[in-house]
Amino acid sequence: MKEVIYLDNAATTQVLPEVLQEMLPYFTETFGNPSAVYTFASGAKGAVDKAREQVAKLIGAKTEEIYFTAGGSESDNWALKATAEAYKEKGRHIITTAIEHHAILHTCQWLEQQGFEVTYLPVDEKGVVSPQEIEKAIRPDTILISVMAANNEIGTIEPLKEIGVIAKEHGILFHTDAVQAFGHIPLDVEALNIDMLSASGHKIHGPKGVGILYIRKGVKIRSFVHGGAQERKRRAGTHNVPGIVGMGKAAELAGTHMQENNEKIVALRNHLIDRVLKEIPYTRLNGHEINRLPNNANFCFRFIEGESMLILLDQKGICGSSGSACTSGSLDPSHVLLAIGLPHEIAHGSLRLTLSEKNTLEEIDYTVDQLKAIIERLRGMSPLYEDFIKKQERE
Ligand SMILES: *Cc1c(COP(=O)(O)O)cnc(C)c1O
Repeated sequence: MKEVIYLDNAATTQVLPEVLQEMLPYFTETFGNPSAVYTFASGAKGAVDKAREQVAKLIGAKTEEIYFTAGGSESDNWALKATAEAYKEKGRHIITTAIEHHAILHTCQWLEQQGFEVTYLPVDEKGVVSPQEIEKAIRPDTILISVMAANNEIGTIEPLKEIGVIAKEHGILFHTDAVQAFGHIPLDVEALNIDMLSASGHKIHGPKGVGILYIRKGVKIRSFVHGGAQERKRRAGTHNVPGIVGMGKAAELAGTHMQENNEKIVALRNHLIDRVLKEIPYTRLNGHEINRLPNNANFCFRFIEGESMLILLDQKGICGSSGSACTSGSLDPSHVLLAIGLPHEIAHGSLRLTLSEKNTLEEIDYTVDQLKAIIERLRGMSPLYEDFIKKQERE
């Protein structure tokens, strides 16, 4: 078995060898600036064009609707801040959900300080936002609905199709943070009526520091990064050519292999969930049983403190996460787990394991075996657990 069992693919993924191969020439050989006029630069320019096509194809967009950015966070910031700026004469109200990634939530909080109003809709116990609630929240001054395609912590897939219909009917722009869904499940911006979509390279076996914002033709948002005329004057900065090439290749591979990869991942993931729920008592699966990302498993173990569990798993070479990568290191329980109604003490005992097609059955079985032993050990040291068991015995 490998020294490291990597089960944190929602935090980032390994760059595929095919992706790296595709990127390498753009560091040292075809290193020209794609904006230059001489012939030498045309190789780099052609590579950026090709990547744009590869990305566009994966979501049913036109190539000229894809804008390369420095990642999912920038794309989210751009979509929200630029929409607020461009449409503030029409209104200052934005609708989103309580379980968005912090790239959305913190941007919304910043916009509130600038005089915008944000409605953070609750979700149900599985993490699903209700399209009816969205419709009810719409006001004459609503300019944007931003709902993630799939949640990064609990994997729940949101009802984008219904939301898209509502947004269109009311003439309101619809943005989705699709960083977790892009390349993992089918997405079509036409069928879903999506006006803006954020995605990131490093969540699909591409490089870090590159992403895209899809902007539907006709959406009048301006540049967020000012400077040169790159990206049709909407995103300044010399193109990150190797990164863009890598994201393009990763998108192409994700599209081509989506079905076979997902069949493999779902089988492993379901095996993981089945074993954990069957063999570890006082455990719950968070998120939706069916409408969830193929690679996501998220559990709460009662009487367990997430950080200690992660440290002990790490000692066995297993990489998992509690909450999201961005919140680990803080002691606050995940805002997503609180939003699905879990009390603080249960939300604290959460573990997210996110798989990729590179994982094996052997790795999953080893992980469950180790996890079982770790949970037993931690519960053995917990006075709360001891009280609970004693009480059970008396009843
Ligand atoms: C990872 C992630 C982001 C941030 O993307 P970066 O490319 O890391 O900036 C935003 N939203 C979601 C849902 C994510 O999972």
